[in-house]
Amino acid sequence: MVTVGIDLGGTTIKMGAVRDGQLIASSEIKADSNKSLTAKLPEIAAGVNMLLQGLPVEERKFEGIGLAFPSIVDSRDMKVLLQYVKFSDADELDLKAWAEQTWGVPFVLENDARAALVGEWQYGAGRGEDNIVLCTIGTGFGSAVLMDGKVLKGAHYVAGNLGGHMVVNFKGDKCNCGGIGCLETEASSWVLESKCQSHPLFNQSTLSSLETINYRAVFDHADTGDRLSIEIRDHSISVWAAGIVNLVHAFDPNVVIIGGGVMRRGQLILPLLQAHVDQHTWPPAGTYKIMPADDFTNAGVLGMAYLAGRAVN
Ligand SMILES: [Zn+2]
Repeated sequence: MVTVGIDLGGTTIKMGAVRDGQLIASSEIKADSNKSLTAKLPEIAAGVNMLLQGLPVEERKFEGIGLAFPSIVDSRDMKVLLQYVKFSDADELDLKAWAEQTWGVPFVLENDARAALVGEWQYGAGRGEDNIVLCTIGTGFGSAVLMDGKVLKGAHYVAGNLGGHMVVNFKGDKCNCGGIGCLETEASSWVLESKCQSHPLFNQSTLSSLETINYRAVFDHADTGDRLSIEIRDHSISVWAAGIVNLVHAFDPNVVIIGGGVMRRGQLILPLLQAHVDQHTWPPAGTYKIMPADDFTNAGVLGMAYLAGRAVN
């Protein structure tokens, strides 16, 4: 059975046709996520159709389609629940009707972190596991949880998803979610620049000569001995580690799978996260294995294609 997965991100939209867990065709288009999703849907439909045109005739007919969206999603009624800074009209759209009218196949909608979790669970680093926490550390800190073989959703579809908004400093800064001292207010791409600029070491730091400051720069400058970069890097890793401790204490997985932009430095980060978790969790060291995602680039597409297949059966 061939199914199609679409992963809507802030900068790119990835699409893939999947047969038996194998990506048989894939492509991506620019997200233009500051514009409306209404304006983007025809381009997404054309992209999927073009993808299928490249396949042998017998594989062009697909059975179901799944879309991952980077916000809180009601996966039972197929609605985007929360207005998101990107694609701000998404919560007004009937995406299920769009998919059914366009292709006449079953449609599933899910949050992007859950889609990546399902992809890694079925085909990646989490194969064979029933209890997984997945964290994506990039612009923010996303998370999703598989518990006893079920993807957690909760009464309001946020269960397991708000790892970035766990409180790690209750006397900290106000977060864009309304919280105080959320993980993302302590260590995420969206606060990184202001954290650096307001730091007493900023004027002596090599970061001060940069036009924009991102984690890639912080890690690179830390490598060359810049004191501010080292401090921010180490603080960020400690914050992410504290978040993972909270998540494993709440959800008790076997494995914690990490993906996202900062995993470019996974060789440095993962052992530090593992050491922190081994030292600071209630169960003994070695209980929680922290590992990199297998194919984080395609995990969302694979996960949505899997969920679409399950909706068909
Ligand atoms: Zn928050």
